[in-house]
Amino acid sequence: MAEKNDLLFPLWRFDRLRMATDGWGVTTLVGAHGCPLACRYCINPECREAGEKVTFVTPVELYDLVKRDDLYFRATNGGVTFGGGEPLLHAGFIRRFRETVPSEWRIYAETSLYVPEECVRTAAGCVDHFFVDVKDLSSDIYNRYTGGDVRKVLSNIETLLSAAGSDRITVRLPLIPGYNSDEDRDNSERILRGIGVTRFDRFRYKTQTRTKENR
Ligand code: SF4
Repeated sequence: MAEKNDLLFPLWRFDRLRMATDGWGVTTLVGAHGCPLACRYCINPECREAGEKVTFVTPVELYDLVKRDDLYFRATNGGVTFGGGEPLLHAGFIRRFRETVPSEWRIYAETSLYVPEECVRTAAGCVDHFFVDVKDLSSDIYNRYTGGDVRKVLSNIETLLSAAGSDRITVRLPLIPGYNSDEDRDNSERILRGIGVTRFDRFRYKTQTRTKENR
């Protein structure tokens, strides 16, 4: 019997016609409400707020929302990017969505990988490319910045590497003002290269945390 998470996706964000921002080609970003982490400079704090407007959609209902861009997706090798919150908590839903939409569409995921291992294995079977924001691999920095345990992320990266292969994974390494340094990032990259990660995206976080007042 299907799990509830396989059938309904908590949609709180929907952005059409994005170009090369979170995937290749033209993409539509769909954001999941809810995240297990509490990053100090969370880029989407509203995705963790209880009062946000959330619409629960089935795979077919989400397909109906995004299919108007079918021609753009096919012409540019684009498709749908699942973001957050944390979309891989809904890996079963993404698998059903993959089965619902044209096979030419690409499915991308932006994730922290702070999810149960079974979600990683399910997603490996239905997501074309993963953008993994690891924050920092120092356990102290990771915990201070997110409140989480970095060992869970490292373990899931290894699972994803063996299930999906390094070509389908881009690891984002942010410089986080007040939390890590370039040297820390180099250490994270060295650890990741050592386990087989080959694609990296280094960037700097914006530090202004959005609130309801300054959105
Ligand atoms: S993982 Fe993303 S959505 Fe979750 S708290 Fe961190 S920045 Fe926010």
